[in-house]
Amino acid sequence: MNVTTLPKPPRVGLVSLGCPKNLVDSERIMTKLRSDGYDMSPDYAGADVVLVNTCGFLDSAKEESLEAIGEAIAENGRVVVTGCMGKEADVIRERFPDVLAITGAHEYEQVVGAVHDAAPMPANAFLNLVPEGGLKLTPRHYSYLKISEGCNHRCAFCIIPHLRGDLVSRRPDAILREAEKLVAAGTRELLVISQDTSAYGVDMRHKAFPLKSGGEVRAHMTDLSRELGKLGAWVRLHYVYPYPHVNDVIPLMAEGLVLPYLDIPFQHASPDVLRRMRRPANDAKVLQRIRAWREQVPDLAIRSSFVVGFPGETDQDFAYLLNWLEEARLDRVGAFKFEPVEGAPATSMDDQVPAELKQERYEAVMALSARISAEKLAAKVGSTIDVLIDRVDDVEPVDEGADRGHFDAPHAVHHHEVGATGRSKADAPEIDGEVHLRDARGLKPGDIVSVRIEDADEHDLYGVPLETVAD
Ligand code: SF4
Repeated sequence: MNVTTLPKPPRVGLVSLGCPKNLVDSERIMTKLRSDGYDMSPDYAGADVVLVNTCGFLDSAKEESLEAIGEAIAENGRVVVTGCMGKEADVIRERFPDVLAITGAHEYEQVVGAVHDAAPMPANAFLNLVPEGGLKLTPRHYSYLKISEGCNHRCAFCIIPHLRGDLVSRRPDAILREAEKLVAAGTRELLVISQDTSAYGVDMRHKAFPLKSGGEVRAHMTDLSRELGKLGAWVRLHYVYPYPHVNDVIPLMAEGLVLPYLDIPFQHASPDVLRRMRRPANDAKVLQRIRAWREQVPDLAIRSSFVVGFPGETDQDFAYLLNWLEEARLDRVGAFKFEPVEGAPATSMDDQVPAELKQERYEAVMALSARISAEKLAAKVGSTIDVLIDRVDDVEPVDEGADRGHFDAPHAVHHHEVGATGRSKADAPEIDGEVHLRDARGLKPGDIVSVRIEDADEHDLYGVPLETVAD
């Protein structure tokens, strides 16, 4: 018998830092490498080359990226760097002269080429190792869907446009094809991401593209959201700026096509601070609009992030922010202390806020948001909501007969009470709260179940599943 031994494929280790957008890039790179015949290594020791996908948004993120590169060099030695910090190749080279190659964000071909050079491809990579829907680093039941890259704004604290350039939208038909594949491969939740979702398609002048099912779709947030909503998965919109046309996606939420969830990075409320931040869609009537949205979709969950201690933020500005938060009663709030970023205009602005004051303001925003969140979650106790299961506890069989020393009857094998953790429509993965379930026997990740809420704390809900809504 002739036995052909396939050469062992080289193994690539991956360290992915930064935001969900970077995770999507890592997924694309790994999908390409898998289709080229590479294997992934879960640890440094087993990797022929380690790819570090860096984030360079804040100075602290840069430092984290440099530390990750240093660790990969120390543990493995063969390191390729990609991602936002690729723009600063000199800084990386100076500290780690042994790095094999450095490429920038979205330079897929270059980074894949660098891995090929560092660990040459097996001669016999004829097997298609890529599962339907690409290779994903997120659990199979939810997927990030990147709809555009770059940004046309120039917020004073941000260097993303410098790192990634102006807005470039993907074609809506290509996005829909990717989403269809993901849903066919088991995705139950599509998380729409970009730098500015509301601006999607502006660069294409909202051109219409034919759909293979007939009809057409415009490169526009409303049209794309509607088409995505028809695929049968949860559709969650991130990084939405409150431009007037956001009003048009609210009816899609009322129809159940899009989740009643908006992630709007307001960053501040004081008109003066917003103006100095050069924030887009800086609309003084935002509170009124939030009220109108909630009238149409009463269970709308709004998440946002805020920067405290932006240069020149006065006590009055900060008081304005606290009052605004009290009025807006957002569901989820993340706060950040302003951090100077090299290359961002705000870094050299006058009136930098002292560190202690930033800390004080940060704590005040967090305390207020925690109280509002606790109140809003407490109001859900007694209600029934849909929950998408993320994790199920390991089940340990317990032989009760053996426990009790009974040998005369067949042993009853029971299980400890099984718990599970999931998310409601109001919770995005990783950034929002969770729903903890007791009595979750028979459930698996990706199931959507109806849950009766029994308890709540500042961030999470606790409940018991009633029935499987869909499997
Ligand atoms: S909208 Fe502002 S903060 Fe967001 S990516 Fe664009 S420039 Fe940066």
